Amino acid sequence: MIPPIASNFVAGETPSEALDHVADLNARGVKGICNLLGEHYDDRADADADADAYIDLAERIARRDVDACLSVKPSQIGLEVGDRAFEENLARIVDAADCFVWIDMEDHDTVDVTLDAFERHARETDGNVGVCVQANLKRTGETLERLADCPGKVRLVKGAYDPPASIAYKEKSKVDEMYREYLTYMFEHFEDGIAVGSHDPAMIEFARDLHDEHGTPFEIQMLTGVREDAQFELAEEYEVYQYIPYGSKWFSYFYRRVRERKENALFALRAVVGA
Ligand code: FAD
Repeated sequence: MIPPIASNFVAGETPSEALDHVADLNARGVKGICNLLGEHYDDRADADADADAYIDLAERIARRDVDACLSVKPSQIGLEVGDRAFEENLARIVDAADCFVWIDMEDHDTVDVTLDAFERHARETDGNVGVCVQANLKRTGETLERLADCPGKVRLVKGAYDPPASIAYKEKSKVDEMYREYLTYMFEHFEDGIAVGSHDPAMIEFARDLHDEHGTPFEIQMLTGVREDAQFELAEEYEVYQYIPYGSKWFSYFYRRVRERKENALFALRAVVGA
């Protein structure tokens, strides 16, 4: 069982707990992006098992008729296994799922293979897949030019990995500046499919201004347990998705949330003790 201090950030260990969480969110106007926790598998059987679990989840989403989609990590479904395990498992998931499928972006050396897979499926499904791009990577301007006329959605995030300085912006202020620059490009050149993956009120405000100026539709995405009041408030005016991690591998995810922001632990603790 997940202890209360971690359950703020994780929807449960099972798919039905994740979908109960989605149903609660849907009732408040927020849609779900379900992510089964797991990454960096070097065993094909583990990668295949998680791909099967996503296919099962997609069937459950259809059966329960909740508003939710999937987000998969390439290294979870076989990128580090080789033998085209990632490509084959992604194709299985995209073919089987009735719902939208997001592909998360991981380390900088996986960008090309991830973008290639995204573009192939985005064109084949006429836009039923999305990919994440990271504002801290210097190459992201070129990536957005490549994706501007591709169907599907693009989630812009600041970047959770730590690429070398030769290919990445390291200063937070520079990453914020680039986030704004890339977002501006997206609103000017994308017809739709813009996803703002950030909790940062300044970036969300910036996106709202761009939307007012250009009229291009966009959605806001935030994580479970982070600024949830803001999620519900924004959902009254905009399309808001919550990225919902679930599964038995919750500990390392919770630990990462706490490490990246110590206030997360205090926040979770306060929720537990009701302070
Ligand atoms: P930060 O720059 O961390 O913080 C800016 C401001 O936002 C803070 O000053 C505060 O006002 C507010 N804020 C941030 N966190 C909190 C909090 N916990 N509580 C209250 N206020 C807060 N990264 C990847 O590399 N690949 C991915 O595929 C990926 N997918 C993601 C999907 C979603 C839906 C989201 C939200 C993030 C994803 N990320 C991904 C992570 C992302 O790259 C950032 O590391 C993470 O979102 C932190 O950046 P930020 O823009 O939210 O805000």
